[in-house]
Amino acid sequence: MLNGLMQEQPLLISSLIEHAARLHPQGEIVSRTSEGPIHRCTYADVRRRARQLANALTALGVGAGERVATLAWNGYRHMELYYGVSGTGAVLHTINPRLFPEQIEYIVNHAEDRLLFFDPGFLPLVEKLAARAPGISRHVVLTDRAHMPASSLPGLLCYEELLAAQSADFAWPQFDENSASSLCYTSGTTGNPKGVLYSHRSSVLHSWAACAVDGLAVSAQETVLLVVPMFHVNAWGMPYAGAMSGARLVMPGPALDGRSVYELLRDERVTLALGVPTVWLMLQQYVESAGLRPAEELCLRRVVIGGSAAPRAMSERFANDFGAFVVHAWGMTEMSPLGSVCNLLPRHAGLSPEQRLALQEKQGRAVYGVEMKIVDDDGVELPHDGLAAGHLLVRGPWITRAYYREEGAGNVDGDGFFDTGDVATIDADGYMQITDRAKDVIKSGGEWISSIALENAAIAHPAVAEAAVIGAAHDKWQERPLLIIVRKAGHELGRDEMLDFLRDRVATWWLPDDVVFVDELPHTATGKLHKLRLREQFRDYRLPGA
Ligand code: ADP
Repeated sequence: MLNGLMQEQPLLISSLIEHAARLHPQGEIVSRTSEGPIHRCTYADVRRRARQLANALTALGVGAGERVATLAWNGYRHMELYYGVSGTGAVLHTINPRLFPEQIEYIVNHAEDRLLFFDPGFLPLVEKLAARAPGISRHVVLTDRAHMPASSLPGLLCYEELLAAQSADFAWPQFDENSASSLCYTSGTTGNPKGVLYSHRSSVLHSWAACAVDGLAVSAQETVLLVVPMFHVNAWGMPYAGAMSGARLVMPGPALDGRSVYELLRDERVTLALGVPTVWLMLQQYVESAGLRPAEELCLRRVVIGGSAAPRAMSERFANDFGAFVVHAWGMTEMSPLGSVCNLLPRHAGLSPEQRLALQEKQGRAVYGVEMKIVDDDGVELPHDGLAAGHLLVRGPWITRAYYREEGAGNVDGDGFFDTGDVATIDADGYMQITDRAKDVIKSGGEWISSIALENAAIAHPAVAEAAVIGAAHDKWQERPLLIIVRKAGHELGRDEMLDFLRDRVATWWLPDDVVFVDELPHTATGKLHKLRLREQFRDYRLPGA
């Protein structure tokens, strides 16, 4: 081997904010604060304050590799922590506040967090946690002195005071790019949450994929609304990709209801927005009930939807009412999260709107850096014909190889592939489509029925607000689909009408055996349908004729 003669520069997260502050010093970060008002700052400000934070962390004795936790919504202070903590070589542990308190307690102790930075609104949670998480030596409220809440917590620190006491001179240390940078736990719908430990190298490489035109095309041309929370897989890497590209970032804080999101889209002239289907559902319902005309009022060009399948009806409404193109994407905490993106190819230019919507139902093609394959139960690779459905396995430099503190076990096979737990097809062009999570697939007489496909077909009915499909016990077929519906307010819809609607849209043997109507469906901490809880709820349910 002959070594190349290029510079060996470690890929470090601090280099992203340095780049942004040099090349896009006026690039704006707009935040809706927990206190209410809109706050504006620039990449230059984020760098300055991240450096002050780095000095503060050093003064508090936080060493390289130590975990610093956050309980915070999307906002500029959280962004400063992304850079200030990781930049010093410490590890940022973003906690999902929607987890059960026992799960939060578990992960704080499992991660051995030393410091906890939190939004004032989380004080009651933090006060309860404090006694059960003795490893946390200091608690810092993300606010100024005027908004410091009264609390019995000993030695509570005020973030703005902490920063004000420090100089903005700080030379980011240079270290191995494989060092850990941040930590995120999966929601653990079954069993305890598992820690995914990202590295500086994986985070920087992932940002390039997010910025690539055939990735999410994040660039300085865009104003990006991060509806996806910064405690959910690093907001899909957007705080890093934003700095890499100089994109203008808009952070919604805790207000994720339809009206607040709509106002931000309109007032901040957002061009690209990212989030899970649940929030887009709230937005679309608000627009419908308020009789708004988003296509005329907004500049929204693209909406990235991931985390759960983007139903066709949702993409259609974004196209027709908002004039926005839905970019369907797939990934997971274990993948940083970006795995595939549904962008069109040149030969799709002539597709009819119907054909394009059908293509957009797929989760898209693997981005460079992610290898995908589908295998059967015996591990034999299946063809990429768009029909064969199998376990989806992935490999790449921003995909986990072991969970935190379970390193010995590893979580990849002999060839380095990670089993995503999803079941998917891949077509001849490489477009992947998730048919189900392996544990949610409905096994009817040895055949598999896709719960996602049925849900998407049901949600297209104008009276349906939300739909879930689970397998219910059946003597003859083992399992048959049960459709559970939340009706839109003020709409009528009966079982037979729903089934008639589906009859033209799905294979006859996929037709649910029954339909039930409920007021609401349970969701997980990351906004997905909580299928496990639904299955428990309907455990004793008898299908007609079962
Ligand atoms: P959690 O902690 O809830 O598991 P993740 O975001 O890591 O959160 O969940 C990843 C899973 O979400 C994937 O394995 C897949 O099942 C599902 N998922 C993500 N994106 C999509 C999508 N576009 N379509 C269907 N399912 C998706």
